[in-house]
Amino acid sequence: MTSKEIRQEFLKFFETRKHQVVPSAPMVIKDDPTLMFTNAGMNQFKEFFLGNKTPKYSRVTDTQKCLRVSGKHNDLEEVGKDTYHHTMFEMLGNWSFGDYFKKEAIEWAWELLTEVYKINKDQLYVTVFEGEASDGLKMDQEAYDLWKQIVPEDRILMGNKNDNFWEMGEQGPCGPCSEIHVDIRSEEERQKVSGASLVNMDHPQVVEIWNLVFMEFNRKADGSLEKLPAQHVDTGMGFERLCMVLQGVQSNYDTDVFMPLIKQLEAGSGVKYGASEETDIAIRVISDHVRAVAFAIADGQLPSNTGAGYVIRRILRRAIRYGFTFLDKKEPFIYELVALLSDQMKEFFPEIGAQSQLVAKVIREEEAGFLRTLEQGLQLLDQIIANNEGDTVKGVKAFELYDTYGFPIDLTALILSERNMKLDEKGFHEELKKQKERSRAATKVETGDWTILDAEAGEEFLGYDTLQTPSRITRYRKVERKKGGTIYQMVLDRTPFYAEGGGQVGDQGYLEDVAGNKIPVSDTKRENNLIIHFSKSLPKDPAGELTAVVSRKKRLMTQANHTATHLLHQALRQVLGTHVEQKGSMVNSDGLRFDFSHFSKMTKEELAEVEKFVNDRISEKLPKVEKRAVGFQEAVDDGAIALFGEKYGDKVRTINFGESTELCGGTHVENTADIWYFIITSESAVAAGVRRIEAITGEKAMEYLNKRDTTLEEVTQVLKNPADPVKAVSNLQEENAALKKQVEVLLKEKAGNLKHDLKGKITNVNGINFLAEKVDLNQGGIKDLCFELGGEMDDLFLFFATEDNGKAMLSCYISKDLAAARGLNAGQIVRELGKYIQGGGGGQPFFATAGGKNPDGIPEALENVKTYIQA
Ligand code: ATP
Ligand code: MG
Repeated sequence: MTSKEIRQEFLKFFETRKHQVVPSAPMVIKDDPTLMFTNAGMNQFKEFFLGNKTPKYSRVTDTQKCLRVSGKHNDLEEVGKDTYHHTMFEMLGNWSFGDYFKKEAIEWAWELLTEVYKINKDQLYVTVFEGEASDGLKMDQEAYDLWKQIVPEDRILMGNKNDNFWEMGEQGPCGPCSEIHVDIRSEEERQKVSGASLVNMDHPQVVEIWNLVFMEFNRKADGSLEKLPAQHVDTGMGFERLCMVLQGVQSNYDTDVFMPLIKQLEAGSGVKYGASEETDIAIRVISDHVRAVAFAIADGQLPSNTGAGYVIRRILRRAIRYGFTFLDKKEPFIYELVALLSDQMKEFFPEIGAQSQLVAKVIREEEAGFLRTLEQGLQLLDQIIANNEGDTVKGVKAFELYDTYGFPIDLTALILSERNMKLDEKGFHEELKKQKERSRAATKVETGDWTILDAEAGEEFLGYDTLQTPSRITRYRKVERKKGGTIYQMVLDRTPFYAEGGGQVGDQGYLEDVAGNKIPVSDTKRENNLIIHFSKSLPKDPAGELTAVVSRKKRLMTQANHTATHLLHQALRQVLGTHVEQKGSMVNSDGLRFDFSHFSKMTKEELAEVEKFVNDRISEKLPKVEKRAVGFQEAVDDGAIALFGEKYGDKVRTINFGESTELCGGTHVENTADIWYFIITSESAVAAGVRRIEAITGEKAMEYLNKRDTTLEEVTQVLKNPADPVKAVSNLQEENAALKKQVEVLLKEKAGNLKHDLKGKITNVNGINFLAEKVDLNQGGIKDLCFELGGEMDDLFLFFATEDNGKAMLSCYISKDLAAARGLNAGQIVRELGKYIQGGGGGQPFFATAGGKNPDGIPEALENVKTYIQA
């Protein structure tokens, strides 16, 4: 079976068992502070398990793009070294939300593996949770009894909390699980050593392929478990591992998922896969990492210096330096794999097909940048070696290379050993440990356990229609902030507060109790589908009646900017072309920022045209047409553009202003006239192929224009109120140019006179035409003077000193013939005499200058040069 068929077969199997097939959620997570990337199929359903939201289907199946490079599930260091862990992989899954439980999950999994995929039953092992006293959990007898009916008991193994109790992260839904392992060793080997002894022992040919999780608990921030409102099934099967088993190969990399990439890498590097352990690891690392990075970029996460962007950058850098060190790739090459990857995957994941050009461009730029950094790192290492005392290099130094240049410690050690030097590895690991502690502190999640006031109450968002509602708190928690202090987070039964999302900032405002006491709301954010209101304090009676009020002015200014963003998007596609894709946006009350794909800097004309397009839509006074629950497909057919990397439900909200149609959950003006005016303030590059426009509207645009107006007014006043200020300024410029010319002529004349005077002062000393004088000329003037006199006279020795702004300058000119005949050197002379003016300098034997900070030393310098020549 090809990998495509394997994937299809899985989905079909569960579809016929009444599961709804849903798309993979984006790999990059935007609304959950506890998670950066999707690390399991269940992430997108977390809110269903927690009971925050009711699912539309009780049975679901899909294949989910996962990335395990940070947080609780981090396989990065294994990837490439082993043959069955990836950074990005697909997880095939089937789910029951409060519907079927252990029985069906176990029976179907067995049926699919052994009857549909026809895996030999003798090669399969299953595990069951043995219980955990510290959590007060007993052995999973129910699962054991179910397995017993289909699997011989010697193939059912007991597993501890580590292997058989699945948790998404430090907190969240969890439960006991049953894993299925497969032993793909040869018949002969299987006879010799029983597979049962190799399960969960990190054996590359006895691997876990499928995990069936029975979700029953929620792990709270204090570490304790609470029962979930219902029982669920969450399964995850590693797609690439399944392909390995079904395609009869010994490594995930030998499947048709990776072989095409590996073939291209072989061709491009001249290194055969299989040639050596070192180069094999490099090839695996690169063919794995390109997938993770390409899909992250397609999901809207560009490499950057912070957060998720930094994680992506580090993955790519890991691949680059493996290529650099082991495949001898000193030029960008990873980007060349993107086209192939896109061809392989686009049928199932259209986001990669549609954006492969952009993805390749971004990767190429990153590669070029990091290769430069690596070169610098090598040079730095050379310096470190040159300046090192003794033969051991300090760990801190190696750490610096590792941390800022991504220089792997083994590479540093290798280079040092080639130079017969040693590395203090212990010191390095101490630094590394310190850094890990620092980053753990920085990524500590700001969260806590909820105090539930009303478990039954739902949460209604009314902020599209009103800025004020009667309201009650249904749950709240106190959260320690990373930067110190605490904050309260509250969930309301009804709220007008818009939670940060879709680029729009969260609302601010206040909650008022019946006695008229107000507590300010400083921010609003979304977490697992709950709207969380932030405040420094709690109302006196948290359970009492409240009025929730959104700060009106900020909200109105913000939504003007949001609507302007839609018009800007439309304008860019109109003016630049439909290749323009939104890559990010930020909208608040001060202005807007819009990132989009486009390959060149926008011209002045294009910017003016875009600005005019938006302002024309504003003048047309287009009313908002909002539809709150349109079918996703219907909306797309109607011309709405769905963004890659966004998660949409079946029902979406569309916002229309004239011809602009967008899928959007943000808030907007009633009529484009409310935007008042739109001004672009900057256009710049964010990354290769991604541009950024910043703009302002409304009151801010008015302030901007007023300021320009005031400046113009001031300029006019300074010019003494001419009728035409532009003409007046250009007259001034012309006048200025004419005056400059005159000054030049006068200076020339002056220099001519000076030259004449000085020439008269030249005396012959010992056959040398000699002059040493203090003159009033600038540096360039003195040089001209020297060379002019030099052209008129032979055997010349000139020494001029000048003083300017408290600084002294010496210049020495010696005719070339004279310098050669008498062994004189102007450079050496100014250097020596420079000491009188407390400075230094140099130059050539026939002309040199020195600068210093002591003009009082000039007479002495002149005196000395005379003595020198006379002698
Ligand atoms: P392992 O012990 O092999 O790391 P796991 O216990 O971390 O696996 P789960 O969290 O249960 O795995 O994930 C479900 C399935 O996803 C696994 O059975 C496996 O097939 C697959 N899987 C997990 N991690 C990876 C990875 N890094 N690369 C590829 N497949 C993976
Ligand atoms: Mg794992």
